Amino acid sequence: MWRELNENGSWKGEIYNRRKNGEVYPGILSIAVIKDDENSVCNYMAHFFDISEIKEAQSQVEYQAHHDFLTKLPNRILLQEHLKQAFRVSKRANLHSVFMYIDLDRFKQINDNYGHDAGDRVLVEIAQRMRDLLREGDMVARIGGDEFAVIAPDLDVDESSAANKALFLAEKILTAVTEPVRFESYSFEVTASIGIKLFPNHVKDELDVIEHADIAMYQAKKMGRNQITFYNHDLDIASRQFATLENELVEAIKKDEFMLYYQPTVCANTERIIGAEALLRWKHPTKGVLAPSEFIGVLEKTSLMHEVCPYVLRSACMQIEAWLRAKRIDRNFRLAINISAHCFRHKDFVKRVESILDEFSFNHAMLEFELVESVLIEDMDDTVEKIKALQKRNISFLIDDFGTGYTSMRYLQQLPVDGVKIDRAILSNVNNKVNQEIIKITIDLANTFNLEVIAEGVESSTALKYLRDLNCHFYQGYSFSRPVKHESFISLFQENNKTHKRSKKSKESKRKKKNYTSSR
Ligand code: C2E
Ligand code: MG
Ligand code: MG
Repeated sequence: MWRELNENGSWKGEIYNRRKNGEVYPGILSIAVIKDDENSVCNYMAHFFDISEIKEAQSQVEYQAHHDFLTKLPNRILLQEHLKQAFRVSKRANLHSVFMYIDLDRFKQINDNYGHDAGDRVLVEIAQRMRDLLREGDMVARIGGDEFAVIAPDLDVDESSAANKALFLAEKILTAVTEPVRFESYSFEVTASIGIKLFPNHVKDELDVIEHADIAMYQAKKMGRNQITFYNHDLDIASRQFATLENELVEAIKKDEFMLYYQPTVCANTERIIGAEALLRWKHPTKGVLAPSEFIGVLEKTSLMHEVCPYVLRSACMQIEAWLRAKRIDRNFRLAINISAHCFRHKDFVKRVESILDEFSFNHAMLEFELVESVLIEDMDDTVEKIKALQKRNISFLIDDFGTGYTSMRYLQQLPVDGVKIDRAILSNVNNKVNQEIIKITIDLANTFNLEVIAEGVESSTALKYLRDLNCHFYQGYSFSRPVKHESFISLFQENNKTHKRSKKSKESKRKKKNYTSSR
């Protein structure tokens, strides 16, 4: 600005200014140099024009040009820009990403038979569900009437692992889409066909990616809808990967390569550890310690899960017994384990659990079983019967990943559970108004039904403060501790216990002192 003023005698440009109340706003500033008779600068004349309204209108137009009016999702134009960028970044960083085409099956029938309001409701609801599922940095767009697309960049450095993760994500999307959508007195069950294309390998540019995903999606339609299909080449990779993983997992079971990590469950008010959740890990011979997202899909799709479930329960029980014996924990400690759909649905589930419990003598009230809501509501009679049978053995039941299902609130009253765990996706963004509402409603409902509430995935002090303000009972999250090996967990637990005993003592002695002084 100064250089132009000195050289040309004037300057014009866009600047940001600050109002007295602190608000920052854009404007156009023109400055002219005024010189006296001797040609030396005597004044500057400035003219300032507030353009905040113009800017606002511009960004509105920009937003409308790039978003779908009904669902507020990005549209095809924005999607393509994003994909182009993701393609470039993936190539440069040597990472594998995924693009998916999602086409709702027979959506036209809803529109034709129930009217456009019903159709709109379905689209809005499904758009919201998909948005909730994705990570930050992923994108879901609406690219046509009943067509959506998802970009999930940077899935993995390894192409076959990326294929596996893509499949896992596509399955989650399909489950979310197929949950019934309610509209007035109707309930619509929509299915979808999903075409998957990995990139950046074996394609020239983002247009190829779109074309291949489209071909895969049509393949899924041809195979009878409600299907997930990879583009040919990726399909080879995915099925090869599946077979390899399956073989490796069979070996892993034989060689005892699984172990449990423990993540503390903490009282939100006092920060005292009251228990833990046991989380499965696989000590892979070459890839290091793997989290469940890398392999649980394969366990669940094969009968292998039936061998892993008893392993988890037995290991958790053995750990409790060992800690009790070493006087590291007392009977108030609670250990939660995750129960898979496959195992829970098995007709002998209760019998199998009981026979393991009988190997141990500690009070089973120390155990909690976590199940996701979709499993619980699948066959309500069976669910209620099994839960009640095991509650007789003092085991508590928690609904895991609560708040992301679409029926949560409706079924809460009917399920004889003891608590709910608010899903980590909701906690990951507590600044979002919808998420805030979900947390609030969940805590209110839980209090009404006398249930315990545990918030998962608390990563920030903002999230924790928010939970405290709402009187949420317990939480888990990286802000306190990641899941860790049993040795690290128990030292953390004891350290935490000592601090609490110390602070309890010091509070008591303060109280005594106070009484003493006041009685004098
Ligand atoms: P989950 O039961 O909802 O477990 C919580 C997951 O959130 C864990 O992932 C945990 O590491 C992660 N987490 C905890 N705090 C934070 C946080 O602050 N931020 C973020 N971003 N994540 C956090 P993990 O261990 O990878 O397990 C993933 C899922 O795999 C579990 O979700 C559960 O559904 C399943 N799973 C884990 N262990 C078992 C098991 O033994 N049996 C069965 N059937 N499923 C298991
Ligand atoms: Mg869990
Ligand atoms: Mg969870």
